[in-house]
Amino acid sequence: MAFDCQVCGACCRNPRHNRAHGIQDYVDVVPSDRLFQRRGLRDRWTFRAPEGTHHMRLRDDGRCVALDGTIGRFVSCGIYAQRPEVCRKLEPGTPQCREARAEHGLS
Ligand code: SF4
Ligand code: SF4
Repeated sequence: MAFDCQVCGACCRNPRHNRAHGIQDYVDVVPSDRLFQRRGLRDRWTFRAPEGTHHMRLRDDGRCVALDGTIGRFVSCGIYAQRPEVCRKLEPGTPQCREARAEHGLS
């Protein structure tokens, strides 16, 4: 089957098991990311964890702040050209993708 990321967006939300444990550092932003290198963007979109690492800010429901739209209907990444490497590497159809989709009732 086809995995249409512009319909889905499930992996752009912190998984339930992370949320249950208060884990917020779901999407890593590292120094090699353009988002990290541009101070204004980094301050706007990321937070710095106590250990010094940076991660995408999340909404109260666990969605990445850059995610627009409705998961499972129509979504887009508001910083697509600047999105972190970890987002670029997540391939549709992989186990992480399927796990995220399953959490949102997407086959
Ligand atoms: S969970 Fe899979 S299909 Fe959905 S947006 Fe992420 S990579 Fe794309
Ligand atoms: S930066 Fe974009 S692609 Fe990455 S988790 Fe956030 S909305 Fe999704």
